[in-house]
Amino acid sequence: RTVYVNGEYLPETEARISIFDRGFLFADAVYEVTSVLGGKMIAFDGHAERLKRSLSELDMDNPISTEDLLEVHRELVRLNGIDEGLIYLQISRGAASDRDFAFPDPDEVKPTVVLFTQSKPGLAETVRPMKVISIDDIRWGRRDIKTVQLLYPSMGKMMAKAAGADDAWMVEDGYVTEGTSNNVYIVKDGKIITRALSNDILHGITRAAVLRYAEEAQMEVEERNFTIEEAQNADEAFFTSASAFVMPVVQIDDKKLGGGEPGRVALRLREIYLDESLKTAV
Ligand code: PMP
Repeated sequence: RTVYVNGEYLPETEARISIFDRGFLFADAVYEVTSVLGGKMIAFDGHAERLKRSLSELDMDNPISTEDLLEVHRELVRLNGIDEGLIYLQISRGAASDRDFAFPDPDEVKPTVVLFTQSKPGLAETVRPMKVISIDDIRWGRRDIKTVQLLYPSMGKMMAKAAGADDAWMVEDGYVTEGTSNNVYIVKDGKIITRALSNDILHGITRAAVLRYAEEAQMEVEERNFTIEEAQNADEAFFTSASAFVMPVVQIDDKKLGGGEPGRVALRLREIYLDESLKTAV
């Protein structure tokens, strides 16, 4: 596989990053994951915009223009022959000359830009009814910034696996925040309920698109907090992310929803999302 590192396209085995890179030492880095369908990037502009916001919230220089970034995405898709899959992009503050908590002078240290592809044939067709467990949300308070501090979400996934489930929904002050790598929703009496945007959750690019399509299709949307108990008593549940699109959830802790079958609203939204986002793929 060919990967991109700081302006160069290289075989993955030849790619090199300094051991002093702050992404490695301090998780001082941001990332994006964009899906590829039919060889084209889904919701590219949304991801590029959020990347800029993440960088600016962390006072990191933006080392690459949106046009150049799209060019790199396209070149990697071409070089690796990706039809369906994902593109991972990471920008770290770069490699300082030593390990120091203080940020290095941006005039002396350049950000590290890395991109690689993951081929996932059948990505759009794969609908798996998901089981989730609930866990405490003990992450930091700026979850709106897409940083690579992903240790707790990884642990959450492992807790889910150990419990025979697929993912974990995180709960803070009694209310669900989000999944380990997705935004979460419940449906009650036809109404789609999801937590409002704040620093408590990632502002999902898929979330924004799905809510827009839902409103265009005259579906009712309410942005507010909900508890695990309310979710367990909902008609259906689902989550969204760039890599899973819209995925039905059929079990929350010990409670089955909709007799264990994917919900109609979730499946309809998935279909609309895939149709509509393909129209704007680049
Ligand atoms: N929340 C978290 C914590 C995530 O990691 C992700 C996926 N990166 C999402 C939500 C979904 O965001 P998006 O739709 O932009 O992939």
